[in-house]
Amino acid sequence: MKRQYDMLVIGGGPGGALAAKTAADKGLSVCLVEKRPAIGVPVRCAEGIGKELLTDFIPPDPKWIATEIERAELVAPDDFSMLLEPKMAGSEVGYVLDRKVFDRELVWKAAEAGAETYVKARATAPIMRNGAVAGAVIEQHGKTYEVNAKITIAADGIESKFAKWAGIDTTVPLREIETCAQYLMTGIDIDAQMTSFYLGNEVAPAGYVWIFPKGKGLANVGIGIGGGKSGAGHRAKDYLDRFVARKFPNGKSIELIVGGVSVCKPLSCTVADNMLIVGDAARISDPITGGGIYNALYTGRLAAETAIAALEKGDTRKAALMPYDTTWRSSPMGKALERNYAVKEVFVGLSDEKLNAIVHSISKINLEEFSTLTLITELIKANPSLLLELKHLKAFL
Ligand SMILES: Cc1cc2nc3c(=O)[nH]c(=O)nc-3n(C[C@H](O)[C@H](O)[C@H](O)COP(=O)(O)OP(=O)(O)OC[C@H]3O[C@@H](n4cnc5c(N)ncnc54)[C@H](O)[C@@H]3O)c2cc1C
Repeated sequence: MKRQYDMLVIGGGPGGALAAKTAADKGLSVCLVEKRPAIGVPVRCAEGIGKELLTDFIPPDPKWIATEIERAELVAPDDFSMLLEPKMAGSEVGYVLDRKVFDRELVWKAAEAGAETYVKARATAPIMRNGAVAGAVIEQHGKTYEVNAKITIAADGIESKFAKWAGIDTTVPLREIETCAQYLMTGIDIDAQMTSFYLGNEVAPAGYVWIFPKGKGLANVGIGIGGGKSGAGHRAKDYLDRFVARKFPNGKSIELIVGGVSVCKPLSCTVADNMLIVGDAARISDPITGGGIYNALYTGRLAAETAIAALEKGDTRKAALMPYDTTWRSSPMGKALERNYAVKEVFVGLSDEKLNAIVHSISKINLEEFSTLTLITELIKANPSLLLELKHLKAFL
């Protein structure tokens, strides 16, 4: 590990990998550090992503695609199931990845482009000079290194501390963290080309249960519940165990993961002097679905492109990096985050009766494409009084 780089990337998830690859492709000296001993494990993800969202970043490769999904179902609290055929399911239809392979492939591509990559290498503090980030202190194998960089990318995920250490408020209120648990289950009777989403306050308060197939009889079966709903005897895993006992009594679990997803608004600013924050570290995951792979890839690449332009001009202060922040906010992804946050705030307060009414009424519409806008329209129909609460959503309707 050298003492000076153009770019230091903290975190070897999709956001960090894309940032490192993009910068290394342009000939920058790049160092990526990952605190875990291996890239991509343990997988804290249901591994679902829309097909068209991925192809912009990496050509699809069977070695990291576990399953191609053709349809989705939405199951109401009263067990009424609404089927979304491919044309309607939009971005809910796509791939279930094998992220152990996928994440590794992304970091390998960054390394191939020339980035130096280090595992079991943890950033423990930023190096600050004149109030600006100038690199990080890295611990690896019991040794401490001061690694200086003209630009640092904080891509350290949901548990991100780096931006906070550098003085940015990254706190997520408990009620805006979905606490998640997921089994990789085998021997279960499922449609291997269909994702399923179960709603309801008994099933998953302020969240949902998902079944994402990974092959015949094999699936990620997981749950996210609102952090404020979790407590002794009713944690995410308790709800999941009840669901699994009811739905798949003969299934076998071969892996359990727990983790968190932020469903809050993104950070109010995602740049600082010499630093850009990407992916989950910037709280840029979808507030309704919790999905964040695409968002991390997109912001990782955009952050590096902005950094390259700033380095060329010799100015990496906050103002020079702001185009990153304004570009992602005004992108379709940024607009969707804003809209979906407002929808989520309504959604998490709905009774089972209202959820039933919404799913039943959506199923009766001849949908060209199921979208969040459809959901909003149905939310308002089921709850006319919400129109007032949602008036700030007018711009999106
Ligand atoms: C249960 C669950 C299910 C999910 N399902 C989906 C889904 O189906 N589809 C979807 O799109 N998204 C899903 N997500 C979200 C998705 O996993 C994340 O949005 C995505 O991984 C974000 O990528 P990232 O690069 O920002 O962060 P991460 O992938 O979290 O990568 C951050 C990396 O930084 C490393 N790190 C942290 N601190 C340090 C440090 N100090 N020094 C060095 N390294 C550090 C971490 O070890 C980690 O490897 C799910 C999340 C959870 C928890």
